Amino acid sequence: MHTFPLSTSAPRSRDAVRHEPRRRTLVVLRRREVAGGLVRLTLGGDDLAGFTSLGPEDHVKLFVPGADGALVGRDYTPSEFRPLGASSGPELDLDVVVHVGASGPASDWAAAAREGDRVEVGGPRGSKLAPAGFRNALLIADPTGLPALRRWVRAFAGVLPVHAVLFGGAAAHYLDEAEVLAATPQVLEPHHDLLEVVRTQDVDDDTFVWAAGEASALVPVRRHLKEQGLPKTNRSLHGYWKRGDAGFDHHAPLDPADPD
Ligand SMILES: Cc1cc2nc3c(=O)[nH]c(=O)nc-3n(C[C@H](O)[C@H](O)[C@H](O)COP(=O)(O)OP(=O)(O)OC[C@H]3O[C@@H](n4cnc5c(N)ncnc54)[C@H](O)[C@@H]3O)c2cc1C
Repeated sequence: MHTFPLSTSAPRSRDAVRHEPRRRTLVVLRRREVAGGLVRLTLGGDDLAGFTSLGPEDHVKLFVPGADGALVGRDYTPSEFRPLGASSGPELDLDVVVHVGASGPASDWAAAAREGDRVEVGGPRGSKLAPAGFRNALLIADPTGLPALRRWVRAFAGVLPVHAVLFGGAAAHYLDEAEVLAATPQVLEPHHDLLEVVRTQDVDDDTFVWAAGEASALVPVRRHLKEQGLPKTNRSLHGYWKRGDAGFDHHAPLDPADPD
């Protein structure tokens, strides 16, 4: 299992590493369906030289044609980077949810991408390393958060016990056998209430909680954790997309009624 470095400066801190800002032109080497509606695009090309991604929440900007043909950027997690891949060059995997119902430029691009297609990718601009010094971790993700969840599982493997709660159709078999053993995933069915499930979890002042997925679904989870008095250093919750909102800005407060 490829692992990621932990922060070393202080317990429970998140060390930040800046990367040289770069926009790369890459080529689609392979495309295949992975679990639960995600499509894995393996990108390559000489431009990938020097690519670095050290943090579980790192993201790149994928630039794809919007409705008017002009390029629009959408965020994706580097699912896997191999400095020397099967193509004998560096390879970057992006795992993209092809969403049905409401379409979007990135999802449409991934659905139609073919070997040899070119695409521009920016970043990651920096990496926030995983923190050390917690007793356990609770990781919560819908399908868009699965690539980052897997990076968290790898960062914490052998360091602390992890429990994953997968919602919104996220499939446990996205993870390989070792990752499933490490993450003990609990997969929610549509009738399950995410907040009710979170309420039953083993969370205290020594727990690190990370969540990513549809923004509105995570608002009650964040409120609950705040009400429980879970310190800010213990939580990292992110809206990765918002129903009905094209190009949702993940820098906006998750809960507009209670920004912090
Ligand atoms: C830091 C970060 C990392 C991310 N990593 C990944 C990743 O690794 N893989 C991944 O698939 N996504 C990831 N996302 C989420 C992805 O950026 C969004 O889903 C994005 O909106 C998709 O762009 P689009 O052009 O397809 O749709 P948009 O143009 O943004 O939206 C068009 C419509 O589609 C809807 N929509 C958007 N995403 C979804 C969805 N997943 N399911 C259903 N409806 C949707 C919107 O609500 C809107 O109505 C990440 C987001 C962030 C912020």
